[in-house]
Amino acid sequence: MASSGETLGQKAPGLAEGAVPRPVLVDLHLHTTASDGRLSPTEVVRLAARRGLRVIAITDHDSMEGITEAQQEAKTHPNLIFIPGVELSTDVPEGEVHILGYFLDPTDPVLGESLMRFRNARVTRARRMVEKLAALGVRVDWKRVVELAAGGAIGRPHIALAMVEKGYIANPQEAFIRYIGRTGPAYVEREKLTPVEAVALVKRRGGLPVLAHPLEDGTGEAILPSLKEAWLVGLEVYYGNYDTAKVRHLLALAKHYDLVPCGGSDFHGLGMPVEAEPGSMGPPMQSALRLLALAGVRT
Ligand code: AMP
Ligand code: ZN
Ligand code: FE
Ligand code: FE
Repeated sequence: MASSGETLGQKAPGLAEGAVPRPVLVDLHLHTTASDGRLSPTEVVRLAARRGLRVIAITDHDSMEGITEAQQEAKTHPNLIFIPGVELSTDVPEGEVHILGYFLDPTDPVLGESLMRFRNARVTRARRMVEKLAALGVRVDWKRVVELAAGGAIGRPHIALAMVEKGYIANPQEAFIRYIGRTGPAYVEREKLTPVEAVALVKRRGGLPVLAHPLEDGTGEAILPSLKEAWLVGLEVYYGNYDTAKVRHLLALAKHYDLVPCGGSDFHGLGMPVEAEPGSMGPPMQSALRLLALAGVRT
Protein backbone atom coordinates (compact mmCIF):
# COMPACT_ATOMS: atom_id res chain seq x y z
CA MET A 1 0.00 0.00 0.00
CA ALA A 2 1.42 3.33 -1.08
CA SER A 3 0.34 5.86 1.52
CA SER A 4 2.51 6.46 4.55
CA GLY A 5 1.22 6.76 8.09
CA GLU A 6 2.07 10.43 8.00
CA THR A 7 -0.03 11.23 4.94
CA LEU A 8 -2.89 9.35 6.59
CA GLY A 9 -2.90 11.88 9.40
CA GLN A 10 -1.14 9.75 11.99
CA LYS A 11 0.66 12.83 13.24
CA ALA A 12 -2.48 14.96 13.44
CA PRO A 13 -2.96 16.74 16.78
CA GLY A 14 -4.77 14.66 19.41
CA LEU A 15 -8.54 14.79 19.57
CA ALA A 16 -10.46 15.86 22.64
CA GLU A 17 -11.63 12.82 24.59
CA GLY A 18 -14.79 11.41 23.01
CA ALA A 19 -14.89 13.89 20.13
CA VAL A 20 -15.73 12.47 16.72
CA PRO A 21 -12.88 13.19 14.32
CA ARG A 22 -13.83 15.77 11.66
CA PRO A 23 -13.55 15.25 8.83
CA VAL A 24 -14.24 11.54 9.16
CA LEU A 25 -11.58 9.69 7.15
CA VAL A 26 -12.33 6.15 8.30
CA ASP A 27 -15.59 4.18 8.02
CA LEU A 28 -15.28 0.54 9.03
CA HIS A 29 -18.95 -0.48 8.86
CA LEU A 30 -20.69 -0.40 5.47
CA HIS A 31 -23.31 -2.66 3.88
CA THR A 32 -23.92 -3.48 0.22
CA THR A 33 -26.28 -5.56 -1.92
CA ALA A 34 -24.26 -8.61 -0.81
CA SER A 35 -26.53 -8.41 2.25
CA ASP A 36 -29.17 -5.82 3.10
CA GLY A 37 -27.57 -2.65 1.71
CA ARG A 38 -29.17 -1.02 -1.33
CA LEU A 39 -26.00 0.01 -3.19
CA SER A 40 -23.69 -2.44 -4.96
CA PRO A 41 -20.14 -2.94 -3.61
CA THR A 42 -18.81 -0.78 -6.49
CA GLU A 43 -21.30 1.99 -5.71
CA VAL A 44 -20.46 1.98 -2.00
CA VAL A 45 -16.71 2.22 -2.69
CA ARG A 46 -17.28 5.06 -5.18
CA LEU A 47 -19.50 6.91 -2.72
CA ALA A 48 -16.93 6.50 0.05
CA ALA A 49 -14.13 7.79 -2.18
CA ARG A 50 -16.28 10.75 -3.28
CA ARG A 51 -16.89 11.61 0.36
CA GLY A 52 -13.15 11.78 0.97
CA LEU A 53 -12.82 8.61 3.05
CA ARG A 54 -9.28 7.18 3.23
CA VAL A 55 -9.89 3.80 4.91
CA ILE A 56 -13.10 1.79 4.54
CA ALA A 57 -14.35 -1.68 5.33
CA ILE A 58 -17.33 -3.44 3.82
CA THR A 59 -19.00 -5.60 6.44
CA ASP A 60 -22.01 -7.42 5.01
CA HIS A 61 -24.09 -9.71 7.19
CA ASP A 62 -22.82 -13.30 6.98
CA SER A 63 -21.35 -12.67 3.54
CA MET A 64 -18.09 -11.72 1.87
CA GLU A 65 -19.59 -12.09 -1.60
CA GLY A 66 -19.25 -8.37 -2.28
CA ILE A 67 -15.59 -8.10 -1.29
CA THR A 68 -13.85 -9.06 -4.53
CA GLU A 69 -15.90 -6.55 -6.52
CA ALA A 70 -15.27 -3.85 -3.90
CA GLN A 71 -11.52 -4.60 -3.93
CA GLN A 72 -11.44 -4.18 -7.71
CA GLU A 73 -13.17 -0.81 -7.48
CA ALA A 74 -11.01 0.29 -4.53
CA LYS A 75 -7.87 -0.28 -6.65
CA THR A 76 -9.01 2.54 -8.93
CA HIS A 77 -8.96 5.00 -5.99
CA PRO A 78 -5.30 5.37 -5.05
CA ASN A 79 -6.03 7.29 -1.84
CA LEU A 80 -8.33 4.65 -0.46
CA ILE A 81 -7.33 1.70 1.71
CA PHE A 82 -9.86 -1.11 1.57
CA ILE A 83 -10.31 -3.61 4.42
CA PRO A 84 -12.29 -6.79 3.69
CA GLY A 85 -14.84 -7.47 6.42
CA VAL A 86 -17.95 -9.33 7.50
CA GLU A 87 -20.60 -8.89 10.21
CA LEU A 88 -21.68 -12.06 12.02
CA SER A 89 -25.00 -12.23 13.87
CA THR A 90 -24.86 -14.01 17.20
CA ASP A 91 -27.30 -14.58 20.02
CA VAL A 92 -27.34 -14.22 23.77
CA PRO A 93 -30.45 -14.75 25.92
CA GLU A 94 -30.92 -10.97 26.35
CA GLY A 95 -30.68 -10.10 22.68
CA GLU A 96 -28.45 -10.02 19.68
CA VAL A 97 -24.73 -9.36 19.41
CA HIS A 98 -22.94 -8.61 16.15
CA ILE A 99 -19.27 -9.44 15.70
CA LEU A 100 -17.31 -7.79 12.91
CA GLY A 101 -14.42 -9.67 11.34
CA TYR A 102 -11.74 -7.70 9.48
CA PHE A 103 -8.98 -8.86 7.13
CA LEU A 104 -10.60 -12.20 6.45
CA ASP A 105 -9.96 -13.84 3.09
CA PRO A 106 -13.08 -13.71 0.88
CA THR A 107 -11.81 -16.78 -0.99
CA ASP A 108 -11.27 -18.90 2.17
CA PRO A 109 -13.34 -22.04 1.48
CA VAL A 110 -13.66 -23.00 5.16
CA LEU A 111 -14.99 -19.61 6.14
CA GLY A 112 -17.08 -19.55 2.97
CA GLU A 113 -18.80 -22.76 4.00
CA SER A 114 -19.71 -21.35 7.43
CA LEU A 115 -21.04 -18.15 5.88
CA MET A 116 -23.09 -20.14 3.38
CA ARG A 117 -24.64 -22.11 6.25
CA PHE A 118 -25.56 -18.88 8.06
CA ARG A 119 -27.11 -17.47 4.87
CA ASN A 120 -29.16 -20.62 4.30
CA ALA A 121 -30.53 -20.33 7.84
CA ARG A 122 -31.51 -16.76 6.99
CA VAL A 123 -33.66 -17.96 4.07
CA THR A 124 -35.62 -20.44 6.19
CA ARG A 125 -36.14 -17.87 8.91
CA ALA A 126 -37.21 -15.07 6.52
CA ARG A 127 -39.76 -17.40 4.93
CA ARG A 128 -41.21 -18.15 8.35
CA MET A 129 -41.46 -14.43 9.12
CA VAL A 130 -43.37 -13.88 5.85
CA GLU A 131 -45.75 -16.68 6.92
CA LYS A 132 -46.23 -15.10 10.34
CA LEU A 133 -46.94 -11.75 8.73
CA ALA A 134 -49.56 -13.36 6.49
CA ALA A 135 -51.26 -14.82 9.57
CA LEU A 136 -51.39 -11.24 10.90
CA GLY A 137 -53.02 -10.03 7.66
CA VAL A 138 -49.83 -8.50 6.23
CA ARG A 139 -49.44 -10.18 2.85
CA VAL A 140 -46.03 -9.77 1.29
CA ASP A 141 -44.95 -11.89 -1.61
CA TRP A 142 -42.09 -14.28 -0.72
CA LYS A 143 -40.93 -14.09 -4.34
CA ARG A 144 -40.67 -10.32 -4.05
CA VAL A 145 -38.63 -10.59 -0.84
CA VAL A 146 -36.20 -12.95 -2.61
CA GLU A 147 -36.08 -10.56 -5.56
CA LEU A 148 -35.27 -7.63 -3.28
CA ALA A 149 -32.44 -9.62 -1.68
CA ALA A 150 -31.12 -10.14 -5.24
CA GLY A 151 -28.91 -13.09 -4.33
CA GLY A 152 -27.45 -11.37 -1.25
CA ALA A 153 -27.78 -12.57 2.36
CA ILE A 154 -31.50 -12.22 3.02
CA GLY A 155 -32.51 -10.19 6.05
CA ARG A 156 -35.36 -8.42 7.78
CA PRO A 157 -34.77 -5.19 5.83
CA HIS A 158 -35.76 -7.03 2.62
CA ILE A 159 -39.06 -8.04 4.23
CA ALA A 160 -39.48 -4.47 5.47
CA LEU A 161 -38.92 -3.10 1.96
CA ALA A 162 -41.53 -5.50 0.54
CA MET A 163 -43.97 -4.26 3.21
CA VAL A 164 -43.29 -0.63 2.22
CA GLU A 165 -43.91 -1.50 -1.45
CA LYS A 166 -47.27 -3.04 -0.55
CA GLY A 167 -48.19 0.10 1.41
CA TYR A 168 -48.49 -1.62 4.80
CA ILE A 169 -45.95 0.78 6.32
CA ALA A 170 -44.39 4.12 5.39
CA ASN A 171 -40.72 3.22 5.88
CA PRO A 172 -38.65 0.13 6.76
CA GLN A 173 -38.18 1.21 10.38
CA GLU A 174 -41.91 0.87 11.02
CA ALA A 175 -41.68 -2.83 10.14
CA PHE A 176 -39.24 -3.32 13.01
CA ILE A 177 -41.31 -1.30 15.47
CA ARG A 178 -44.62 -3.01 14.66
CA TYR A 179 -43.79 -6.49 13.36
CA ILE A 180 -40.30 -7.88 12.95
CA GLY A 181 -38.26 -6.29 15.73
CA ARG A 182 -36.98 -8.80 18.27
CA THR A 183 -40.12 -8.55 20.39
CA GLY A 184 -42.49 -8.09 17.43
CA PRO A 185 -45.34 -10.52 16.63
CA ALA A 186 -43.78 -11.72 13.35
CA TYR A 187 -40.20 -12.10 14.61
CA VAL A 188 -38.58 -15.50 14.14
CA GLU A 189 -35.31 -16.66 15.69
CA ARG A 190 -32.68 -18.48 13.74
CA GLU A 191 -29.83 -20.59 14.92
CA LYS A 192 -26.81 -18.44 15.51
CA LEU A 193 -23.36 -18.72 16.98
CA THR A 194 -22.67 -17.37 20.45
CA PRO A 195 -20.57 -14.18 20.48
CA VAL A 196 -17.54 -16.11 21.78
CA GLU A 197 -17.91 -18.66 18.95
CA ALA A 198 -18.02 -15.85 16.38
CA VAL A 199 -14.91 -14.20 17.84
CA ALA A 200 -13.17 -17.59 17.79
CA LEU A 201 -14.24 -18.23 14.18
CA VAL A 202 -12.84 -14.87 13.02
CA LYS A 203 -9.61 -15.47 14.92
CA ARG A 204 -9.26 -19.04 13.58
CA ARG A 205 -9.63 -17.83 9.99
CA GLY A 206 -6.94 -15.21 10.48
CA GLY A 207 -9.12 -12.11 10.93
CA LEU A 208 -9.49 -9.41 13.57
CA PRO A 209 -12.72 -9.65 15.63
CA VAL A 210 -14.44 -6.44 16.77
CA LEU A 211 -17.64 -6.05 18.80
CA ALA A 212 -20.25 -4.06 16.81
CA HIS A 213 -22.65 -1.40 18.21
CA PRO A 214 -22.07 -2.33 21.88
CA LEU A 215 -25.11 -0.48 23.22
CA GLU A 216 -27.79 -2.65 21.61
CA ASP A 217 -29.93 -5.07 23.65
CA GLY A 218 -27.96 -7.98 24.98
CA THR A 219 -24.54 -6.68 24.05
CA GLY A 220 -23.77 -5.15 27.42
CA GLU A 221 -20.49 -4.76 29.18
CA ALA A 222 -20.97 -8.11 30.89
CA ILE A 223 -19.89 -10.05 27.81
CA LEU A 224 -16.67 -8.08 27.28
CA PRO A 225 -14.38 -10.12 29.57
CA SER A 226 -15.30 -13.40 27.85
CA LEU A 227 -14.90 -11.83 24.40
CA LYS A 228 -11.56 -10.35 25.35
CA GLU A 229 -10.43 -13.75 26.54
CA ALA A 230 -11.51 -15.19 23.18
CA TRP A 231 -9.23 -12.57 21.54
CA LEU A 232 -11.51 -9.67 20.71
CA VAL A 233 -9.28 -6.87 19.38
CA GLY A 234 -11.68 -3.95 18.99
CA LEU A 235 -14.89 -2.32 20.09
CA GLU A 236 -17.14 -0.04 18.05
CA VAL A 237 -17.04 3.35 19.74
CA TYR A 238 -17.69 5.82 16.91
CA TYR A 239 -20.86 4.16 15.64
CA GLY A 240 -23.87 5.29 13.58
CA ASN A 241 -25.81 7.96 15.43
CA TYR A 242 -24.17 7.51 18.85
CA ASP A 243 -23.89 10.85 20.66
CA THR A 244 -20.83 12.22 22.45
CA ALA A 245 -21.84 10.75 25.82
CA LYS A 246 -22.07 7.26 24.31
CA VAL A 247 -18.81 7.67 22.43
CA ARG A 248 -17.08 8.81 25.61
CA HIS A 249 -18.44 5.91 27.61
CA LEU A 250 -17.38 3.38 24.98
CA LEU A 251 -13.97 4.97 24.57
CA ALA A 252 -13.38 4.46 28.30
CA LEU A 253 -14.45 0.81 27.95
CA ALA A 254 -12.14 0.31 24.98
CA LYS A 255 -9.26 1.74 27.01
CA HIS A 256 -10.10 -0.39 30.04
CA TYR A 257 -10.06 -3.62 28.00
CA ASP A 258 -7.23 -2.48 25.73
CA LEU A 259 -9.41 -2.73 22.61
CA VAL A 260 -8.98 -0.68 19.43
CA PRO A 261 -11.76 1.95 19.35
CA CYS A 262 -13.41 1.23 15.99
CA GLY A 263 -16.64 2.25 14.28
CA GLY A 264 -18.39 3.57 11.22
CA SER A 265 -21.74 4.60 9.82
CA ASP A 266 -23.38 1.14 9.38
CA PHE A 267 -24.68 2.59 6.14
CA HIS A 268 -27.38 0.55 4.39
CA GLY A 269 -29.10 3.11 2.11
CA LEU A 270 -32.49 1.73 3.12
CA GLY A 271 -34.30 5.07 3.11
CA MET A 272 -34.87 5.19 6.86
CA PRO A 273 -36.07 8.48 8.37
CA VAL A 274 -32.69 8.96 10.04
CA GLU A 275 -29.76 7.12 8.55
CA ALA A 276 -26.02 7.55 8.92
CA GLU A 277 -24.22 7.97 5.60
CA PRO A 278 -20.72 6.76 4.63
CA GLY A 279 -18.33 9.12 6.36
CA SER A 280 -20.91 10.59 8.76
CA MET A 281 -19.27 8.69 11.63
CA GLY A 282 -16.03 6.85 12.12
CA PRO A 283 -12.96 6.36 14.30
CA PRO A 284 -9.74 8.37 14.15
CA MET A 285 -7.08 7.36 11.64
CA GLN A 286 -4.99 6.07 14.53
CA SER A 287 -7.52 3.24 15.04
CA ALA A 288 -7.32 2.20 11.39
CA LEU A 289 -3.53 2.23 11.60
CA ARG A 290 -3.63 0.03 14.70
CA LEU A 291 -5.85 -2.49 12.89
CA LEU A 292 -3.64 -2.41 9.80
CA ALA A 293 -0.58 -2.99 11.99
CA LEU A 294 -2.27 -5.89 13.82
CA ALA A 295 -3.11 -7.42 10.45
CA GLY A 296 0.47 -6.98 9.31
CA VAL A 297 -0.41 -4.59 6.50
CA ARG A 298 2.30 -2.02 5.71
CA THR A 299 1.03 1.54 5.26
P1 AMP B 1 -31.35 -9.53 10.27
O1 AMP B 1 -29.93 -9.62 9.79
O2 AMP B 1 -32.32 -10.16 9.35
O3 AMP B 1 -31.53 -9.95 11.70
O4 AMP B 1 -31.68 -7.96 10.24
C1 AMP B 1 -30.84 -7.09 10.90
C2 AMP B 1 -30.77 -5.76 10.16
O5 AMP B 1 -32.03 -5.14 10.22
C3 AMP B 1 -29.82 -4.76 10.79
O6 AMP B 1 -28.53 -4.87 10.28
C4 AMP B 1 -30.42 -3.46 10.35
O7 AMP B 1 -30.10 -3.19 9.02
C5 AMP B 1 -31.89 -3.75 10.41
N1 AMP B 1 -32.52 -3.42 11.70
C6 AMP B 1 -32.48 -4.12 12.85
N2 AMP B 1 -33.21 -3.53 13.82
C7 AMP B 1 -33.74 -2.42 13.25
C8 AMP B 1 -34.58 -1.39 13.71
N3 AMP B 1 -35.05 -1.38 14.96
N4 AMP B 1 -34.90 -0.41 12.85
C9 AMP B 1 -34.44 -0.42 11.60
N5 AMP B 1 -33.64 -1.36 11.09
C10 AMP B 1 -33.29 -2.35 11.90
ZN1 ZN C 1 -28.10 -4.76 8.08
FE1 FE D 1 -25.20 -4.91 13.16
FE1 FE E 1 -24.24 -3.53 10.21
